[in-house]
Amino acid sequence: MKQRIHIQEPLLQQIGKLADAESVRAFVVGGFVRDEILGKQVKDIDIVVVGNGIEFGQKVARALERSNLVVFENFGTAMLQLDEWKLEFVGARKESYKKESRKPIVAVGTLEDDLSRRDFTVNAIAASLLAEDFGTIIDPFDGRLDLEAKILKTPLDPVVTFDDDPLRIMRAFRFASQLGFTVEPSVLEAAAKMSSRLKIISQERISDEFLKIIASPQPSVGMKLMYDAGVMEIVFPEVAQLAGVDQRQDYHHKDVFLHTLKVVDNICESTDNVWLRMAALLHDIAKPRTKAFKEGIGWTFHGHEELGARMVKQIFKRMKLPFEHIKFVEKLVRLHLRPMALVDGEVTDSAVRRLLFEAGEEIDDLMKLCRADITSKNPRLVEQVRKNYDLVIKKMGEVEEKDRLRNWQPPVKGEEIMQVCGLEPGRSVGLLKDEITEAILDGRIPNEHDAALEYLLKIKDEVLQRVV
Ligand code: ATP
Ligand code: MG
Repeated sequence: MKQRIHIQEPLLQQIGKLADAESVRAFVVGGFVRDEILGKQVKDIDIVVVGNGIEFGQKVARALERSNLVVFENFGTAMLQLDEWKLEFVGARKESYKKESRKPIVAVGTLEDDLSRRDFTVNAIAASLLAEDFGTIIDPFDGRLDLEAKILKTPLDPVVTFDDDPLRIMRAFRFASQLGFTVEPSVLEAAAKMSSRLKIISQERISDEFLKIIASPQPSVGMKLMYDAGVMEIVFPEVAQLAGVDQRQDYHHKDVFLHTLKVVDNICESTDNVWLRMAALLHDIAKPRTKAFKEGIGWTFHGHEELGARMVKQIFKRMKLPFEHIKFVEKLVRLHLRPMALVDGEVTDSAVRRLLFEAGEEIDDLMKLCRADITSKNPRLVEQVRKNYDLVIKKMGEVEEKDRLRNWQPPVKGEEIMQVCGLEPGRSVGLLKDEITEAILDGRIPNEHDAALEYLLKIKDEVLQRVV
């Protein structure tokens, strides 16, 4: 077992020297030490000092001639951004939280007090920055053993740890998903027992952890843990409701929760984009609300793609997720069945053209989602569907080559329509433009200006008559 970590970073040696000169005991702690032992490079460094963290931060900033120290008086912390490094200074403390609020009662503590108030033993390892014992590890809760065993345990009784800050329940599942660690049974038990305490935690902190689960290599790990502990029900009820299978006569449908998790894991192999992963999570979100049993046919979910798309905005609002990604997720949920419908039928130019027009720039992401959506256990079927998708993609390439439909606008613009037909801006202009668009997408006329103009002249009287 390593007694010392090999800290390469000259910056930390510099901070250590300063601590020596000031007779302050300073340690690097938490994620930085954990990831250093795991052999990962991180740029966030948490430094804990026995004494006043803010004052020490100020001294470091002065010594390094930086004026960008940000002080959070309320939290007793200071943050210094140094090129790509983010340093955070805090004084060692004993803390606990009042039951129904997040206001910590903070008291000055020893290093051991401070480590015991951290979330997991693997995050409660410190390494000294002082010259005499630079890199020496202080590990009162055997975090290194747990790192080796890849297990998440809490330094104190998990019930106490979670009671102090219930967000730690989410953090347990997030680290399990991110690092591929297991969660100790007593910690899981405490998480399930305390899950309703997550209600007092701000949505921003919860969503932060949730997005980190989505960004992890296999999000199903974290999400299954959330579900089993009853946390999904609180944090993301729509997803929790995907679970469960109904049996009627000889018909049952696949458990949509398990299917969804598989789709999310699948898509992670082809993208790091969390919003595309989110679209995978939400693609069948309206299935429980559209589920109906049809005599002789079985289970149906008519319109789940449309209703699902409409649920996206509410979900983003409630979870305080960035609104600029709503349209993207909505679009993918709305269109997720379309490529499959193409595969089932005859792949005509006009059907492909329509899909390209509607999906626009998102077509490649949509195809990724559809490929991820193949979760059948029958390898022959999977092979067949994959082949059909390849066919659709090939056809798309051909149509795209001919028509250039991404970010496409019909070749006759509004101004020209107004001019040719002697119209003021208004409804009829839009109507004429739609007619031209339809004719091109159907393949009745080519995607060219002259053909579109000729078509406009042919239909304008009949269409304008319809308007009046
Ligand atoms: P990452 O930076 O990848 O999110 P991390 O472990 O560095 O992981 P941070 O949120 O940056 O996590 O926190 C730094 C350290 O502070 C943690 O390693 C842990 O020791 C402690 N910590 C953070 N949040 C909590 C919490 N809610 N309860 C207890 N300790 C915490
Ligand atoms: Mg960190």
